Amino acid sequence: MTRRLGSGSLVIATHNAGKLKEISALLEPHGVKCLSAGSLGLPEPAETGTSFVENALLKARAAAEASGLAALADDSGLSVDALNGRPGVYTADWAERQWFEGKPGRDWFMAMGKVEGMLQALGPDAPRGCAFHCVLALAWPDGESAVYEGAARGTLAWPPRGIMGFGYDPVFVPEGGARTFAELDPGEKHRISHRAAAFAKLVAANFGT
Ligand code: IMP
Repeated sequence: MTRRLGSGSLVIATHNAGKLKEISALLEPHGVKCLSAGSLGLPEPAETGTSFVENALLKARAAAEASGLAALADDSGLSVDALNGRPGVYTADWAERQWFEGKPGRDWFMAMGKVEGMLQALGPDAPRGCAFHCVLALAWPDGESAVYEGAARGTLAWPPRGIMGFGYDPVFVPEGGARTFAELDPGEKHRISHRAAAFAKLVAANFGT
């Protein structure tokens, strides 16, 4: 029988406040107490993998080893069809800015503008289809691990719209919808997002009957 997550403490191996909030909201109904890697002072490993799965496993394993507790990591990103899947695993890197408001940081508007600029360079008829991907990796301190994948298809909007969510939410219009993820309230996004799809698999495997 595959190993299941208990109702004890789980380290959420992310230093991204937006992800931490979404993941805690999705797990707390199952009685899991979420601790953030930041609050435990865990270091953030370099994401050297070339796939979402590799990076998610790398982050979950590092947190499980350092904390001695089960750990959950999320690696996610936006893949644009016309850009051959880019930015993909480099989604966060495209927002990297040497100096932003006086300190190094991430600028999501710059990143969304870069995606849009590359699409527009392909011409006015470039297809605007894209997908958010999410890989959740669970790791235990003894080295055992499990992986769950989810995706949400959509189209890219321009200019960005909405103030909720995080990252690239203001330019992502989910399939069948008209509003961007940043225009949906968090509950609506949680029902249809790539993270929700991966979570449904995690919940079925760990808390299902
Ligand atoms: P990483 O998984 O920490 O390497 O970063 C993935 C990046 O993808 C995030 O920093 C966000 O910019 C973006 N991303 C992932 N999931 C979402 C989402 O639900 N909404 C908006 N952006 C997202």
